[in-house]
Amino acid sequence: MTSAADPAAPRSLHDLTLAELQRALVGAGLSPTHARTLWRTLHHHLATELAGHPDLLPPLQRWVAEHVGADRRYFTHPPTVAADLASTDGLTRKFLLQLADGQTIETVVMGFKGRHTACLSTQAGCAMGCVFCATGQMGFVRHLRPGEIVAQVRHAQLALRETGHPGLRNLVLMGMGEPLHNYDAVLTALEIISERSGLNLGPSRITISTVGVVPGILRLAAEQRPYHLAVSLHGATEEERSALVPASRRWPLADLMAACRTYCAQTGRRIFFEWTLIAGQNDSPAQAERLGQLLTGLAAHVNLIPLNPTGGFAGTATQLDAAKAFQQVLKQAGFPSTIRQRRGIDVAAGCGQLRAEKARETSPSGVK
Ligand code: SAH
Ligand code: SF4
Repeated sequence: MTSAADPAAPRSLHDLTLAELQRALVGAGLSPTHARTLWRTLHHHLATELAGHPDLLPPLQRWVAEHVGADRRYFTHPPTVAADLASTDGLTRKFLLQLADGQTIETVVMGFKGRHTACLSTQAGCAMGCVFCATGQMGFVRHLRPGEIVAQVRHAQLALRETGHPGLRNLVLMGMGEPLHNYDAVLTALEIISERSGLNLGPSRITISTVGVVPGILRLAAEQRPYHLAVSLHGATEEERSALVPASRRWPLADLMAACRTYCAQTGRRIFFEWTLIAGQNDSPAQAERLGQLLTGLAAHVNLIPLNPTGGFAGTATQLDAAKAFQQVLKQAGFPSTIRQRRGIDVAAGCGQLRAEKARETSPSGVK
């Protein structure tokens, strides 16, 4: 469920939790207070240049000079912006960020009624192969490191700051990749992001979305991780679901629902279920009824997402009338649901779509 990292390889300072930073600095003869100062400079003030930073007293400046930079133990360089698109409705801004090895990932900032949510990527590409998803269509490239997930939040905060907005309110791990396939890096990143004296986006503002990686869901429950959980279903029978979500063959629907019940019982929390509505495929009232039966007894909220069209999938989005009819059936079964607005569709705001578009622009034969 995780990536093996070379312990000797240079690390981003943004990979480190506060405890790790304290260990590193105390090991070099500095104090935990020095570590807290450096932490605030990095994660609260969002400094990108540490050398000469006015908050860092001489001992910290010396540590930075010795340990941070090219060919040193740590680096700080943020990802560069390969594309920055604002939707015509002004509510969505989508960044394509280029990482140190040239890989690109997407981070989306959505604003609604003055509140902003960032949608973060957890992997470059994705191994799960959901047929309607642009990221699934490109395949797996690599796991993101904690610092590469943290860097997306920093980037979103700085972008909001520059445009005079208050900071982010919520985070959703619904960009490129499967968070629970990169469990350790994702959970480390969330620990860093939610630390109060730094970025301070607490667990109640963070939602992890999974395609249904059963061991990961059970581990979240066993470890009593305090984040919200969203599970992507899209089909309420094994046959219908695995046609859209090949990962369902590895973690069958029956096992997934059992894991969800365990999760609710162990954590006392409800689960959000994601359902991408595809016209004529999974949007009939009978399918809504089966979904209601599947969820019986669970504390659940359903998010209905009309399909964002992607290059590699011929399906189309369910029209609003049919989506409302689906919602009505769920309501009668006792389940609240939300039809998610398809904002920012003109900036390819579906997960993985911008990277796929950029790849098509630069390669005459198209992506993959
Ligand atoms: N891998 C995780 C999180 C990233 S995808 C997961 O699958 O849950 C986040 C959500 O976007 C999922 O519910 C996914 O099914 C949905 N999604 C992906 N591509 C989409 C598209 N083209 N149109 C609508 N929803 C899509
Ligand atoms: Fe991966 Fe999620 Fe896309 Fe499926 S929907 S391919 S799990 S990113």
